[in-house]
Amino acid sequence: MAINYIVPEYEVLRDPQRCIACRVCERQCANEVHTYDPELGLMRSDESKCVNCHRCVSLCPTHALKIVKNEDTFKLNKNWSMQAITEIYRQAESGGMLLSSMGNPNDFPVYWDKMLINASQVTNPSIDPLREPMETRVYLGKKPEHVERNADGTLKINTPPQLKLNVPIMFSAMSYGSISYNAHASLARAATELGTYYNTGEGGLHKDFYQYGPHTIVQVASGRFGVHKGYLDTGAAIEIKMGQGAKPGIGGHLPGTKSVGDVARTRMIPEGSDAISPAPHHDIYSIEDLRQLVYSLKEATAYQKPVIVKIAAVHNVAAIASGIARSGADIIAIDGFRGGTGAAPTRIRDNVGIPIELALASVDRRLREEGIRNNVSIVVGGSIRNAADVVKAIALGADAVYIASAALMALGCHLCRSCQTGKCNWGIATQRPDLVKRLNPNIGYQRLVNLVSAWQHEIMEMMGGMGINSIEALKGNRLMLRGIGLTEKELEILGIKHAGE
Ligand code: SF4
Ligand code: SF4
Repeated sequence: MAINYIVPEYEVLRDPQRCIACRVCERQCANEVHTYDPELGLMRSDESKCVNCHRCVSLCPTHALKIVKNEDTFKLNKNWSMQAITEIYRQAESGGMLLSSMGNPNDFPVYWDKMLINASQVTNPSIDPLREPMETRVYLGKKPEHVERNADGTLKINTPPQLKLNVPIMFSAMSYGSISYNAHASLARAATELGTYYNTGEGGLHKDFYQYGPHTIVQVASGRFGVHKGYLDTGAAIEIKMGQGAKPGIGGHLPGTKSVGDVARTRMIPEGSDAISPAPHHDIYSIEDLRQLVYSLKEATAYQKPVIVKIAAVHNVAAIASGIARSGADIIAIDGFRGGTGAAPTRIRDNVGIPIELALASVDRRLREEGIRNNVSIVVGGSIRNAADVVKAIALGADAVYIASAALMALGCHLCRSCQTGKCNWGIATQRPDLVKRLNPNIGYQRLVNLVSAWQHEIMEMMGGMGINSIEALKGNRLMLRGIGLTEKELEILGIKHAGE
């Protein structure tokens, strides 16, 4: 019926001079875009199914394929874009919410790109990280108020449990179920080799990954999937997930079709049942309630593990963080509105929350003003794209960052934003065995190690250029940043001067 027709978002351009009809693209595309016409001996394309994941483009042996944005569009209208119109058609047809994945792709300011980093010249010498020591190790957790000494003058070691990171970068929460076994295996092995941490997300911990416990953050979300004493004891830290940047204020949903086999067993739910995590924790309606859960988890693990509370960056984030810092939590993780997800309602992903840069600066300032900054460490995520973003985040007050989308890209993700379909052609956001095996964890883990090692080198170079030799000295050092093209209000919130000042 014509009224159903949705103009395809992409065009598949196949160069007939190059195509040898090898059918690689047909075999590689889980969306069934490519088919072979045996009568004509030709390949055909169903562009309506293309999500632009670039799997076929990458593997075509003769480079015959190109995917381009479909320009055959509606009459130009600055208000009613092609996307806005096709979304209306989709909802008029289905009567349902639109779903998307990964982070907010819209044209909001990226404040990382509006900040520039300082460098030493003449009067304060820079440091050459190849020749001089450079400390990228950080410890996350509550720090003691005072240095205390024993009667014999030696230091009293009374630090609460800490997470030790060789580099201030961790892999953010991604559940087994939303990503594949091989993706999890890659993250777990890479975190172990790098001396950092990966995070189970809300899917529980697969039995094969208990061996990586010392480098695992185990998450406790509102659905409590896969949470039991052994799980809590195995992790190096416990993260209470209150919110997520891609979908603040709402819960999660793994459809029954994905809750199969080990995914269901790991979550401790019946196979084929929907895994729905409620929007709130049903036992948390105040900071006092949160405090109860923080201390329940500490009690359950003999006060040996730091507890992280993860929230989405929202309008009142500084006041919320102040409450969390007083709840007994050791670390606050804040996820900005560009943070990724395996599935979120499009309208929420694209319109709810605030940029992590502004949230971080206001939280750090508030905790300092209240004299409780040392009660907690701050970890931020939700759009960290490179080493410069890490340096800027730390200079704005973060102790460390979480990365997820960047880590998935290291594993092959081409950001097609179709994770919710479960047909990830790169073997990442899928549970289909034929697709999962496309991601080789031996290669995946090495690529993650390469990525973070490369960023570590770049961080050291940038710190050396500033004449700074440790992450600790960079933390909250806003003098190392200048804004470019920002309003007075934005500069005030970020707590930085404009370039030229
Ligand atoms: S992979 Fe390339 S050469 Fe092979 S059938 Fe597809 S377009 Fe043709
Ligand atoms: S993980 Fe896979 S499905 Fe999700 S955006 Fe990346 S390539 Fe696409």
